[in-house]
Amino acid sequence: MPELPDVEVFRKYLNRTALNKKIDKVEVRDNDILSDHSARSLQMQLKGKKFKATKRRGKYMFVKFDKNAWLVPHFGMTGFLKYYKDEDKETEHARVVFDFTNGYKLAFDNQRKLGKVDIAKGVQEFAEKNDIGPDVLEDDFDLGKFKEIMDKKRGIVKSALMDQKSMSGVGNIYSDEILFRAGIHPASKTERLDNKQVKKIFRALKTVLKKAIEAEVDPQKMPSSYLLPVREEGHKCPECSGKIKSSKFSGRTGYYCGKHQKQLS
Ligand SMILES: [Zn+2]
Repeated sequence: MPELPDVEVFRKYLNRTALNKKIDKVEVRDNDILSDHSARSLQMQLKGKKFKATKRRGKYMFVKFDKNAWLVPHFGMTGFLKYYKDEDKETEHARVVFDFTNGYKLAFDNQRKLGKVDIAKGVQEFAEKNDIGPDVLEDDFDLGKFKEIMDKKRGIVKSALMDQKSMSGVGNIYSDEILFRAGIHPASKTERLDNKQVKKIFRALKTVLKKAIEAEVDPQKMPSSYLLPVREEGHKCPECSGKIKSSKFSGRTGYYCGKHQKQLS
């Protein structure tokens, strides 16, 4: 599933392309993609409207098209957006296509069909209904708030960072990067972290996510001292002379440096 930086890149893409363009029609090419409304209802609600604003909370993107009406695309594993004019530019797995009166289209492409398109009354309402915690990049998500959340957590630190109910945005890939930067082993027990370590993780959390957005989530555009460009078993650690290792943590394959990331058990 795309994580906060991926969704932020999609959001910015939509802002640059499809915002404030009048919608002529909506083509639903695969009804399975719609959560709890019909293609006809989507078509009727959107025809003649414009995408007026976008927001993001954690891994979710919201596109406002009317008063108290937001489109919520879920990208699944493989979803993305494409804005284009010529038919030959159309993507292979376009499931929903928004046609604008200017002749352009916005396709919601989803190869593995794990994505969905929802409609919500508002960001807050959707977040409450789906139990989505505060967005970790919000300004008011500060060290105090982070510490308060981490103090209540038990179990391994990687899972704590990925728990969307407590704080939203971080998934498998960026939790690895954050812990790599903070020098903490992913399987460290959360209750063993001291204040200094919690602060280090918090700082890494903000820095890593911002850097990933700047790099437009291209691992090769990330700083060379980061884990992402070398996220592969046996690779030399860019921070020390250690080797990159991988392991299963709560069912997810994580990567870390076997040397500079200390485990607190
Ligand atoms: Zn290292």
